[in-house]
Amino acid sequence: MPAAPEVRATVAPAAPRDLSAPQRALRKLGLARDIDLALHLPMRYEDETRLDRLTDAHDGDVVQVQGTVTDCRVEYRPRRQLVARLVDDEGEAVVLRFLNFYGSQQKAYAAGKRLRVRGELRGGFLGREMVHPRVVPADAPLPHALTPVYSTSAQLPQAYLRKAIVSALARVSLHEVLPPAVVPPGLPSLREAVTFLHHPPPGTTLATLDDRSHPAWQRLKFDELLAQQLSQQAAQQERAKLRAPALSATRGGLHERFLAALPFALTPAQHRVAEEIAADLARGQPMHRLLQGDVGSGKTVVAALAAAIAIDAGWQCALMAPTEILAEQHWHKLVQWLQPLGVQVAWLTGSRKGRERRKHLAAVESGRAGLVIGTHAVIQHDVVFARLGLAIVDEQHRFGVAQRLALREKFVEQDRPSPAMGRGGLGAGVMPSAGHGAQPHLLMMSATPIPRTLAMTYYADLAVSTIDELPPGRTPVVTKLFAEDKRDAVIARIRDEVAAGKQVYWVCPLVEESEALELRDATATHQQLSAALPGRMVGLLHGRMSGAEKAAVMSLFTDGTMQVMVATTVIEVGVDVPNASLMVIEHAERFGLAQLHQLRGRVGRGAVASVCVLLYTPPLSTAAKDRLRAMAETTDGFEIARRDLAIRGPGEFMGARQSGEALLRFADLVADGALIDVARSAAGRLLREQPQAAMAQVERWLASRSDYARA
Ligand code: ADP
Ligand code: MG
Repeated sequence: MPAAPEVRATVAPAAPRDLSAPQRALRKLGLARDIDLALHLPMRYEDETRLDRLTDAHDGDVVQVQGTVTDCRVEYRPRRQLVARLVDDEGEAVVLRFLNFYGSQQKAYAAGKRLRVRGELRGGFLGREMVHPRVVPADAPLPHALTPVYSTSAQLPQAYLRKAIVSALARVSLHEVLPPAVVPPGLPSLREAVTFLHHPPPGTTLATLDDRSHPAWQRLKFDELLAQQLSQQAAQQERAKLRAPALSATRGGLHERFLAALPFALTPAQHRVAEEIAADLARGQPMHRLLQGDVGSGKTVVAALAAAIAIDAGWQCALMAPTEILAEQHWHKLVQWLQPLGVQVAWLTGSRKGRERRKHLAAVESGRAGLVIGTHAVIQHDVVFARLGLAIVDEQHRFGVAQRLALREKFVEQDRPSPAMGRGGLGAGVMPSAGHGAQPHLLMMSATPIPRTLAMTYYADLAVSTIDELPPGRTPVVTKLFAEDKRDAVIARIRDEVAAGKQVYWVCPLVEESEALELRDATATHQQLSAALPGRMVGLLHGRMSGAEKAAVMSLFTDGTMQVMVATTVIEVGVDVPNASLMVIEHAERFGLAQLHQLRGRVGRGAVASVCVLLYTPPLSTAAKDRLRAMAETTDGFEIARRDLAIRGPGEFMGARQSGEALLRFADLVADGALIDVARSAAGRLLREQPQAAMAQVERWLASRSDYARA
């Protein structure tokens, strides 16, 4: 949830009930205001400005020709259709087919009529033909500009949208809000750019429009990036005004006693990031920091240190994890670490109900519990913190976009006037600060590093700490790729591993949208392995099990009673069993790269040499090949993230698919890196020197997209 940059601007008014269907469809696409329509730019263009000659055209070409109808009739074989024959002025003929048609069309296309038709030419049995060409009378004037094609929805016909845009363009004021010095040289005015892109004159090179390198596109991208940078930097300035409890670490305090009791010494990298965090906590402003470090780099200890500082200063700390299994692991570990030092740890998960839950809730509410661990149940509305000073979110990228927004909103719910301070801004841009109390500090943790361009654009006001080394004594995991037909050899390998006293994970394939199928496969594999490994304990862990059942299986595996664990992807995050030395991932081609890397991180946690076997089923798509190759070639999480970004592109990388909304409409984080730099420094200058212009720019671009970059 890094840095949800808040866009503080008016939200489009709710749609009145008496709108027509296309009007409602417009609203749904976020096209409520004239400016939104003006900025809804074409996806591509069609050239209808000239007429083609059939003699010059090839099959497969989209052409526009005109001529005279020589014949028009309804045919019944192979199915009912209207068939007309059109002969152009040079005597070349083309057959027009209409599979669905009205009686009126039969009249309009009668023999002798002069028509202009546009469509794709195909070689047919009776010569060339066009299926469902677009038809207008031959004397209609030719358009003067390329015809824009807009992205739209089923309820919104292209023609309706075009008209709506033309009339919006006539009304809208596209006056420059930016001082000329801010706009990079050589770019047209906004009005020129927008007008040009909606109606490029004939003769415009389509290539520069398609690849968006044309100066008109550059201007639009610049303005978009600038608006986004402005809203980010404004949010950052707002946040700088907020207050948080100053949590300073004291000599000989809880965190030092904790460090002294740890069975290992911190790595230099852990030391460094712990100090960065401690410095933030000691300031009276809310920390907003991402702690990134590869799988197994030891983020939990760092989180515990931060918690110790907060608790010692008399505040509460909440630690949230995306799954119950992970929450439980944290609970065990932190109870083990902190309870002996006198800290009471509460535990809240969705599956904890009744008296037990009430007991923990009471400990949170009274402030007796210094540390509260759980899933997002930690921020449900019945949870009231006495004095929340620090919120830590583990594996933050694992929380879905919707969940991230919910987390954030639930924290806002706690924003109520009370002498205590159960309030805060989780992943928030700017929380309403009603002038009382303060915000908690926020620490997010992730094993999926954010590439630089993304960090610059979306997380501008997020401080980042990076653990760039693993604890000593780890042997890198060796990754091997095997096709599914080597399954028996893999099972033999498991037998050896188990005989040597090691433990094994077998991860079953992801079955898209079918938990039932997923379970069936996992059960079958469980049976197969149980049969192949007589006398050994093979367990099964899947998503349909209750929290208690999962916990029971996990603890058998953790204490070494169980040698092999077959699991669906529920084990994905954070599970820590150092004696596990082999991981098999079945149908590895179905997993995402980040997910594979996370899974692989479950082994290689101790000093034993570990192996990760990726079983795949050919044929592989290009992207799947790229993913598997990346896994075999590197164990570096940062390199994996770079490759992932390259394979998937930024939108998908960020989960925009999930939210159904592109992050940026025009600019591309990878291709437009240079423009991002320009926009970023321009934003800083504009905010300082002409805040009015800055606000006008944000209003123009982001007003109807208030969720623009929040998640
Ligand atoms: P992650 O960053 O993936 O969350 P963890 O915090 O789970 O990693 O740490 C992985 C393992 O490494 C744990 O067993 C943890 O106790 C251990 N560990 C962490 N820091 C050190 C260290 N400095 N030296 C040795 N072991 C460490
Ligand atoms: Mg972890």
